[in-house]
Amino acid sequence: MHVLNFMFIYRFFTLKEKESEVRSKESFWQRNPQGLNSSSANLKDWHDVEAMEREVIRKGIGESGRPAYISDQSKLELKEEMTKKNGFNAVLSDMISVHRSVPDTRFHGCQTKKYFANLPAVSIVIPFYNEHFSALVRSLHSIVSRTPSELIKEIILVDDFSDRVELKGQLDDYVRKYFPKVEIHRFRKRQGLIAARLAGAIKAVGDILVFMDSHIETNYNWLPPLLHPIVLDKRTVVCPMIDVIDDETFEYRIQDEGARGVFDWMFDYKRIPLFVNDMKDPTKPFESPIMSGGLFAISRDWFWELGGYDEGLDIWGGEQYELSFKIWMCGGRLLDAPCSRVGHIFRKTDWPGVTSDRKDDYLYKNYKRVAEVWMDEYKQYLYHHGHGLYEKIDAGDLTEQRALRNKLHCKSFKWFMENVAYDLLKEFPPKGTTDFAFGQIRNVGAPNLCLDTLGPPDYRPIGVEQCEKEKMFPSRNQDWSLSENHDLRMRGEEYCLQAVQKKANSVVVFYDCHNGSSDQLWYYNRKTQWLVYGKRRNFCLEAYPNYKEVVINRCKRNNANMKWTFVHVNDTLLDGYFKTLPT
Ligand code: UDP
Ligand code: MN
Repeated sequence: MHVLNFMFIYRFFTLKEKESEVRSKESFWQRNPQGLNSSSANLKDWHDVEAMEREVIRKGIGESGRPAYISDQSKLELKEEMTKKNGFNAVLSDMISVHRSVPDTRFHGCQTKKYFANLPAVSIVIPFYNEHFSALVRSLHSIVSRTPSELIKEIILVDDFSDRVELKGQLDDYVRKYFPKVEIHRFRKRQGLIAARLAGAIKAVGDILVFMDSHIETNYNWLPPLLHPIVLDKRTVVCPMIDVIDDETFEYRIQDEGARGVFDWMFDYKRIPLFVNDMKDPTKPFESPIMSGGLFAISRDWFWELGGYDEGLDIWGGEQYELSFKIWMCGGRLLDAPCSRVGHIFRKTDWPGVTSDRKDDYLYKNYKRVAEVWMDEYKQYLYHHGHGLYEKIDAGDLTEQRALRNKLHCKSFKWFMENVAYDLLKEFPPKGTTDFAFGQIRNVGAPNLCLDTLGPPDYRPIGVEQCEKEKMFPSRNQDWSLSENHDLRMRGEEYCLQAVQKKANSVVVFYDCHNGSSDQLWYYNRKTQWLVYGKRRNFCLEAYPNYKEVVINRCKRNNANMKWTFVHVNDTLLDGYFKTLPT
């Protein structure tokens, strides 16, 4: 198919068409209905021992993944320039052989592991956008030389409208010369990595799709450990353990002993320690809540049953959450296989990252699409950390995504959080979860009025305002917390309430929180509904509804303007309030 038509078809493919196309072909699992999960299934040592021996004796710069340096002073200026452009030392990349060897970083025991002798051939999909030439072709050489050729059906490169000339004709020529199984598809406009992966997946005919980045080096025998668990269960998705290719020296080394993937509430990808059980046999694949993103193997059937990626996700970001949530919630699982190792160039942290000419905030739009469709009530944690950003963003049409979730009878996000990512909340407590109480604070005497910052937090008395509709997660103006430091603050922030003087009718203003000081001591008495101030606990917050002001005054029963309701009180924590109070 010509590239022009290809793009046209890509955009107008509906999910249903994609599925029916897939169904019409018999998959590996249909051809091999039984026997694979029985112990009698044929196992095989897939190592190419001869090739490994040839690699080990290679000599030269960067061989065996050893760190390399540029000694030629005349190249330093070019090095700076190229590093800025690529986010890694591209000049050094050009000096290191594209066939260089890597160290065997696998755990002891992987070297003798056997996998099914009957494994399906894969389609490897690699999107690239302005990738440095030698890094790209080194990725390809590493794949082709370290993978049994019968296991590679095809390698599909998708050029996301790169504008570097060497990635056009020169790359075509190179591929024609060295890589008969590689085909290149080119976008006619920049669409981002999610669209590129989808486009590659649509073209793919292998029973298993393997997604890779364009700046990787596979390690010895990397593929069989990814495929074996998928053969056992085609709804299992498997990631390799990702090694580090140093952005400066190209040293190839391990990242750590392995970790489980999760996220924090800014939606940054995070890694947390393995469980003791997972470490008993370090060669055994372990469950991980979230994939790190670009490198994984998934059966083609399962990928399309899950609708691939949401086509509304633009350019870059959020897609690994979408797919990981879907995999777990809709009946699959996600593993990391420690005997499969792939090195990846993590670019310099000061590299500006993926640029795009998109006008809208595509990243947060992606996040919001994922949150709206999959995260149920937990989406509020995310939104709450966005400081009003999410509220301004239109996530677009989500009908198709929601229909998919219904059709597949996917479980709730609560299920995911409690059964898969059960330590996430502990590791990354969202704002509010360590608070004695949080959210809107409503006055009892004037129940349509809520405690309000009356603007940005500066040295100005706070007051009361019309209560906002959203109570648990109102805007910053009405979102309070009685925090674990026993202060009353803007939730998740460092602005604390303090009376200007400890005497009747004193106004209340913001100061920077100085955790634990008696000037900032507050308590919520659930019985009297008082917000009690100070160490001696004889002053209470009182509203003057007519003036929309608040002050402190001597606590007095039967004064409804002195009574407040906190929208969310953590009774267990509040029961222990005095125990945690420093003396
Ligand atoms: N990529 C792409 N289009 C984009 C951004 C990225 O095709 O708009 C490719 C990129 O060349 C790489 C893969 O997608 O092969 C993953 O992107 P990247 O490496 O930037 O992600 P990271 O590893 O930094 O998370
Ligand atoms: Mn990458």
